[in-house]
Amino acid sequence: MIHVGPSVSRKCCFELREWIIPESHPRRESLLEREKLVEGMCDGVVVPQGLIAHGRGECFDYLLGETSIPPALEAERAAAAMFHLAKHPVISVNGNVAVLAAREVVELSEATGALIEVNLFYRTRERAKAIADLLYAHGARQVLGVDDATARIPGLDSMRGLVSPNGIYKADYVLLGIEDGDRTEALVRIGKTVAAIDLNPLSRTSLAASIPIVDHIKRALTNIKRYYESMSREEASRVINSFNPRKVIADTLLYIRNRLETLARQLMYDYR
Ligand code: ATP
Repeated sequence: MIHVGPSVSRKCCFELREWIIPESHPRRESLLEREKLVEGMCDGVVVPQGLIAHGRGECFDYLLGETSIPPALEAERAAAAMFHLAKHPVISVNGNVAVLAAREVVELSEATGALIEVNLFYRTRERAKAIADLLYAHGARQVLGVDDATARIPGLDSMRGLVSPNGIYKADYVLLGIEDGDRTEALVRIGKTVAAIDLNPLSRTSLAASIPIVDHIKRALTNIKRYYESMSREEASRVINSFNPRKVIADTLLYIRNRLETLARQLMYDYR
């Protein structure tokens, strides 16, 4: 049992992690990821609600087999293609994304030339700065959305709607992850192409996104970069012209159904 409660100091978080999760633990990676998020909360990067969102994601990742399934790869190829075609692409980063995949965000930004912007549901300047600092520590050269979030996305109330006029406000293409449905819907409504990384194929985000990517944030960003680097502009146009977001969601649901059916049959076979 891992106990990291509010009475445990940040230093203790690290000690407990090393001490309690042995190298041989079959779910070590997953548990380390949880610990990173708890640390992120101690550092003011992640909010408690982010931990709940992560748990929901983990559940869907189990159903997918913790791998990038074929419909996800198809969507990741389309997300990569959009980086070739967009004039002003932006990668939107929140606390969970920064903690789980800061390195992958920076590498994708470097490869594609996309800007990075901190964009938060629960926004405070301190939190935005802490996220930007984490990205800088991983090699980011510029992070928008800390002191320059002065423009507003219509349809998002109060602090939630604030974005940088030189980033998301101006963007024709936004790649985001682990995000709530309101923001995705609002960005699509004002005409942006939105690629959304979300392990839940039935979330409002996945259903509203122009390019729904049902995959873990880290795997998805790595795959998008790989596809981007091996694709020409002509190929990118072909990929986007034949991409259908509804089919990707439908294929994902069918994949999960088939996988569960196979697993159930195996269990019944072993039982006999
Ligand atoms: P919506 O508002 O879109 O219906 P929601 O209420 O679930 O969705 P949030 O609570 O903000 O929105 O959750 C964010 C989403 O991120 C969840 O659907 C969850 O499955 C997903 N998620 C969590 N962790 C990861 C991860 N590591 N990689 C990708 N997606 C993740």
